[in-house]
Amino acid sequence: MNPTRVLVLNSGSSSVKYQLLHMPHGDRLASGMVERIGEDGGPADHDAAFKLVAGELTDDGVGIDSPELAAVGHRVVHGGTRFTEPTVIDDGVLAAIQELVPLAPLHNPANITGIKVARELRPDLPQVAVFDTAFHSTMPEYAARYAIDRQTADTYHVRRYGFHGTSHAYVSRAVAGLLAKDPSEVNVIVLHLGNGASASAVRGGVCVDTSMGLTPLEGLVMGTRSGDLDPAVVFHLARVGGMSVDDIDTLLNKKSGLLGLCGDNDMRNIGHRMAEGDEAARLAFDVYVHRVRKYIGAYTAVLGRVDAIVFTAGVGENSAAVREASLRDLGSLGIEVDTVRNALRAKTARLISAAGSRVAVAVVPTDEELEIAQQTYSLVEQ
Ligand code: AMP
Repeated sequence: MNPTRVLVLNSGSSSVKYQLLHMPHGDRLASGMVERIGEDGGPADHDAAFKLVAGELTDDGVGIDSPELAAVGHRVVHGGTRFTEPTVIDDGVLAAIQELVPLAPLHNPANITGIKVARELRPDLPQVAVFDTAFHSTMPEYAARYAIDRQTADTYHVRRYGFHGTSHAYVSRAVAGLLAKDPSEVNVIVLHLGNGASASAVRGGVCVDTSMGLTPLEGLVMGTRSGDLDPAVVFHLARVGGMSVDDIDTLLNKKSGLLGLCGDNDMRNIGHRMAEGDEAARLAFDVYVHRVRKYIGAYTAVLGRVDAIVFTAGVGENSAAVREASLRDLGSLGIEVDTVRNALRAKTARLISAAGSRVAVAVVPTDEELEIAQQTYSLVEQ
């Protein structure tokens, strides 16, 4: 009997999440998370964290040494321009992921550690890297290029890569299914609104633009990231504010977005505060939604014809208020939301557009682990 289980590892800077899935259907056999790596009360480092994951799997009766395991699928944040497909990891691939560390200094090192430990634990198994950037590698050159000196850009690999790719891939395919169409037949705007947030324009299953760029800082307003701003803000803060590059990096990535605007990065709390008349929370919500609307307009123009707009991730799946405000009064673009359907809470993929809406509006719970498992399994399936 061929092995049919895939272990998905998502190794972040301070946590390791894992799921064990039974393929090809993707039933979940085990899942968990080891947190606070390197912090008080947590494992000392990623090595220790992976040993804990291996222990938890054994406790669940599905040990890492199981012969039913077909492969390990690793989420890898940055694949640069080299990795446009899921890739079986060998020493050369690992070295290439290492070379991309300057482009993703917070993420790729943790991903590499995860790969190394999993290889040590199961040297016989295929280890597959699934890249967050890969789905966006189809962007045309004019969408991927910044309008800066070409030689400088090429020397330092400065271009738009995009992130959250497994989510955009999964959700754009799922919405086609919801419309009983093949992905190649539909043009979709995906709004992945979580703690990190990104939008993408997907034409016939192929990504043609996305809001994140060289790093996940560009684009939409996020929990703690500013998203788009005039790059001269950086020079101004350095020259006039006397801030260092690292200070500004921390400000824009960790102290901005919703948190910077109102002191709260959780949309639930912002909703509660708005209900009590809190002005700062209202402004944060309005800035957030205004940016989402701008991207909907931009991607409508990029795509020409939009068949569906789909909301996903923590805010997109749960906040009826954000969805309603993002699409309010867009009847001239053929977008009409059914307020009753929008307000219904559900955990399943669903349409929330009004019966006559030319553009379908949907909420689709994202499932990055399932997408990683499917891409991994498709490479190793015998
Ligand atoms: P994610 O990164 O996809 O896990 O999304 C996390 C974010 O989703 C949180 O920071 C919250 O802002 C948001 N979120 C989760 N649940 C809700 C909810 N019921 N209503 C509004 N926002 C929510």
